[in-house]
Amino acid sequence: MLENIRVVLVNTSHPGNIGGAARAMKNMGLSRLVLVDPLDFPSSDAVARASGASDILDAAQIVGTLEEALVGCNLVMGTSARDRRIPWPLLDPRECGVSACEQAQQGGEVALVFGREYAGLTNEELQRCHFHVHIPSDPTFSSLNLAAAVQVLAYEVRIAWLAAENQPTKTLKLEATAIQSSLPVTADELESFYTHLEQALVEIRFLDPAKPRHLMSRLRRLYGRSDVSKLEMNILRGILTETIKAARGEHLGQEKADV
Ligand code: SAH
Repeated sequence: MLENIRVVLVNTSHPGNIGGAARAMKNMGLSRLVLVDPLDFPSSDAVARASGASDILDAAQIVGTLEEALVGCNLVMGTSARDRRIPWPLLDPRECGVSACEQAQQGGEVALVFGREYAGLTNEELQRCHFHVHIPSDPTFSSLNLAAAVQVLAYEVRIAWLAAENQPTKTLKLEATAIQSSLPVTADELESFYTHLEQALVEIRFLDPAKPRHLMSRLRRLYGRSDVSKLEMNILRGILTETIKAARGEHLGQEKADV
């Protein structure tokens, strides 16, 4: 689906920005770059800024006019940093990502068009677009670097694509042991902890078994609220074991345990 979405850069002056845009695209799973009359391309600056995304630069299509770049497109979205000079249907980046994915999913071809570093897109070019997209930056300093603007839109396309594919956005997986130790304790583990805790509190004479008052039920409320994990429970149990040993004088004459 993402192959149906092309990024069009119009009249780019700095080849570094073309490289930066290629990198941003590849990070987000986009691969089709179209360059309209770039000032300086191919260029080693573009390759340097692309980092590992020079395959996108190698495959970039170079054309002379925006018209050629848009051949076959069903949906064209043009980006603009400035106030709207012409009243036009406007999307925010999130809506742009969703529309691009919807169109691409139906087999349509989509173009995201970006303008010149010094002057953006002309009115004529903007009028070739079905929608305008403005990244809601600070109005007193609204213009993003070209590659940064590509990054924002490519990211929104990816988020919309992940949602359409029912894929999670939290993709970094925990190792199996970390998953295990972050699981919450079970009710029976909590019960043995309370028994251990009570024993330690008696040993250190904080709790008088003859006059227990409500201490244990209050502590149960406290720990019951705190969503203790298995790992945290191990730490608490370790503290209790050492507390009891200390109360019994079993540590006397020993070196301090390594923590
Ligand atoms: N001086 C130009 C700024 C161009 S920045 C102007 O006044 O228009 C280069 C390109 O980055 C813009 O043409 C647009 O494609 C994109 N861009 C930068 N900031 C943007 C923003 N806030 N919203 C949408 N696109 C932006």
